[in-house]
Amino acid sequence: MSFKVQLTKQDINFIVEKDETILEAALRQECSLPYGCRNGACGSCKAEILNGSIEYPNSELPEGLSEKEHKQGYVLLCKANALSDLDIKARMVETSADIKLKQFPCRVTTCEKLNDDVIRLVLELPKTERLQFLAGQYIDILMKDGKRRSFSLANPPHEDQKLELHIRYYEGGLFSEYAFKDLKDKALLRIEGPLGQFTLQESDRPIIMIAGGTGFAPVKSLVEHALEKNDTRPLHIYWGARTKTDLYFDSIVKQWSIEHPHISYIPVLSEADKLNNWNGKTGFVHEAVLEDHSDLSGFDIYACGPPPMVNAVVESFPKQGLNKDRLFSDSFEFATN
Ligand SMILES: Cc1cc2nc3c(=O)[nH]c(=O)nc-3n(C[C@H](O)[C@H](O)[C@H](O)COP(=O)(O)OP(=O)(O)OC[C@H]3O[C@@H](n4cnc5c(N)ncnc54)[C@H](O)[C@@H]3O)c2cc1C
Repeated sequence: MSFKVQLTKQDINFIVEKDETILEAALRQECSLPYGCRNGACGSCKAEILNGSIEYPNSELPEGLSEKEHKQGYVLLCKANALSDLDIKARMVETSADIKLKQFPCRVTTCEKLNDDVIRLVLELPKTERLQFLAGQYIDILMKDGKRRSFSLANPPHEDQKLELHIRYYEGGLFSEYAFKDLKDKALLRIEGPLGQFTLQESDRPIIMIAGGTGFAPVKSLVEHALEKNDTRPLHIYWGARTKTDLYFDSIVKQWSIEHPHISYIPVLSEADKLNNWNGKTGFVHEAVLEDHSDLSGFDIYACGPPPMVNAVVESFPKQGLNKDRLFSDSFEFATN
């Protein structure tokens, strides 16, 4: 049995099945309601029922809702099941500013080398916590002495039970040396997030995404999110790296382009002299885009990776017609402490 939930303020509706919570139904249908713990404790998903009835498991009020609030018609959407069609007054997450910044302890569940220079870290939050974020955002790892290092989230928001990071090695780098040499499965880290505004923008324009090295991490999150939303805007993914092995998730991107006709993949390698059997593009990745698209005026551009690559995009693309308002970027600047 299913019911219709109407968000009165936004004039949006979605269907909730009998065996799922209202929040689960909303997120499944790409209706971005705010949440925190998803466990009835934090109150971030509190909303007001204007019409209809709900119930909680075992008829117990969740910890994050007082008896008084319940009587006033407030509900915690992460715990409530619908018993009828519902009219609800709720806030929605429309921009990164709508999500509260939080700190969490988290445990490393996977620390695997993808090649000589990149590791993939998977972090698990405490069972009672979830990190709500938008595709393309990043977190800070909080280190001793108040130092912090930023890393883009590589997983899409609908897979929020884990956090995936792609970490590049820098010789002498404070965090990357630690991550490559000493970090082990089950280690505890402290993080803060979500941060950043490099997120998917609504538009009807074709998209070019440009990743440099581990700048692929947020691109992966953005593409997986767009696929989940059935967003079929033409999408050209350019991934720039030095050598073939630096394209550490080449097979994933190839698979996207095989399974989804609106996606094309153009890997670009800069150390051509080290290449044996490479028939693809060579040189700097931004130059490959300029070569392929003489007029960029109709595109949305997303660029992420090392500062020289992002700067080159910012400087050269408007000269080839790009509207600066349609350029979204995240530059992997080194921390100053
Ligand atoms: C928003 C954002 C997202 C990011 N996401 C990712 C990501 O997903 N994956 C990823 O691998 N990295 C990412 N970074 C970069 C990351 O935060 C760190 O800067 C990087 O990992 C280096 O940190 P470290 O502690 O290892 O090195 P550091 O101790 O900071 O030093 C890095 C190395 O470079 C040298 N160095 C220091 N400052 C400079 C400078 N200004 N110019 C040139 N060289 C310098 C140092 O001598 C050292 O050898 C991101 C950065 C930002 C701002």
